[in-house]
Amino acid sequence: SKVPPIILNNGVEMPQLGFGVWQVPDDEAEQAVTTALEAGYRSIDTAAIYGNEAGTGKAIAASGVPRKDLFVTTKLWNSDQGYDSTLRAFDASLDKLGLEYVDLYLIHWPLPARGTFVDSYKAFEKLYADGRAKSIGVSNFLPEHLETLIEATNVIPAVNQIELHPHLQQRAAREYHAEQGIATEAWSPLGQGKGLLEVPAIIAIAQKHGRTPAQIVLRWHLQLGNVVIPKSVTPARIKENIEVFDFTLDTEDIAAISALNEDRRIGPDPAAFDVV
Ligand code: NAD
Repeated sequence: SKVPPIILNNGVEMPQLGFGVWQVPDDEAEQAVTTALEAGYRSIDTAAIYGNEAGTGKAIAASGVPRKDLFVTTKLWNSDQGYDSTLRAFDASLDKLGLEYVDLYLIHWPLPARGTFVDSYKAFEKLYADGRAKSIGVSNFLPEHLETLIEATNVIPAVNQIELHPHLQQRAAREYHAEQGIATEAWSPLGQGKGLLEVPAIIAIAQKHGRTPAQIVLRWHLQLGNVVIPKSVTPARIKENIEVFDFTLDTEDIAAISALNEDRRIGPDPAAFDVV
């Protein structure tokens, strides 16, 4: 495959770059995922709340790519947190995807004020033991939430998927994940394309390498060790975003991008986000 894997803490291989489908309507997801699979992506990141598990599943079924070569992630939505409701939500997601198992199942948000993520994760542990989720993990968990989870459960999350891009570099979280053996997966790795790709320092590095700003930002993530899941519905950009394994940023480039941190979120603060 075009995309090298990282090894998760349970020995499972996960492609370091995948395709995100947030905000892609269900009836457009099939085309977008088909384009991504043709371009060489093998990892797809969806979620129950995205409403496009069915379209994603159709593209997978039609692709002819062997199931074992794919890495499919979906996520438990907030309103389904709790032990029994998690099991029901998982069945519904698998059904929409048309799959026998997912490669990675994530708790979408911690909702700390509700206190239900431990029970939800205990259901994840059952799905993992039953082989229906080959790896389990979380999303948007702060280190304090991970500490609570790890204390109360048996399977260390394989992944924490968090907002991460050059304007929000998440150094403390990345360090904590590394100590715990949790892979860091970057959502909105391109900062949703807004502003970040016009930053002069990034444009200068792009010109130096004869690459696009998006490719430079993705390459920065990869060299830091992050898993990335850039999203696009534009075929040329879908292709561009996976063509990042044939060049290397030097230490000067990395330092220049690392100097862009502003600790600035685009999305919600996980400590406060409580929408169900
Ligand atoms: P992203 O950083 O991947 O940016 C996507 C946007 O950037 C596109 O809509 C497009 O406008 C632009 N873009 C993409 N490729 C480009 C290119 N080559 N050149 C110029 N512009 C380009 O943002 P995202 O979609 O928010 O995040 C990626 C994925 O992360 C999502 O699709 C989803 O799967 C996941 N995600 C997860 C959570 C979570 O809470 N777990 C939250 C947000 C996103």
